[in-house]
Amino acid sequence: MVREIVTYPAEVLTKPTEKVDCVDREIERLVKDMFETMYHAEGVGLAANQIGVPLSVMVIDTSPKEDAPDLKLVLINPEIVSSEGRIKYKEGCLSFPGLSVEVERARKVRVKALNEHGEPVELELEDFPAIVFQHELDHLQGITFIDRLKGWRRRMALEKYRKLQREAQKV
Ligand SMILES: [Zn+2]
Repeated sequence: MVREIVTYPAEVLTKPTEKVDCVDREIERLVKDMFETMYHAEGVGLAANQIGVPLSVMVIDTSPKEDAPDLKLVLINPEIVSSEGRIKYKEGCLSFPGLSVEVERARKVRVKALNEHGEPVELELEDFPAIVFQHELDHLQGITFIDRLKGWRRRMALEKYRKLQREAQKV
């Protein structure tokens, strides 16, 4: 089922999510809805709190991006084990319709999580998949991409976003 995507400044986007105790049928259904919602919105990653569910679950599918690997992932209770390098990329976010901002993140991350079957997995992501992962991990921790900006860059991004919202309301 395609769910409604929560947009900033909804409170659920600004609070850390809770860890999943048990990967059960309910989580299975949540993951299915998250993929459907993400594909419907033409996104490449989605965090559970973006559909209003405050649990540590993310889905990623980087295959729509031509120069990225075809990677489809479900990560539950994800954590970064180690990271290296830096990379800047102009990111978008389904919770900030129309806004894109340049964010600097680690270029390579080693990640620990549970998969959709509740099994522990460890994997290494680099470049675009690493960027998407870190963007979604931030969501799960109650952080949005504008929180990665400082000073006037943050103010300008917020101002631009408010303007986009006002324009969207007029239509
Ligand atoms: Zn986002």
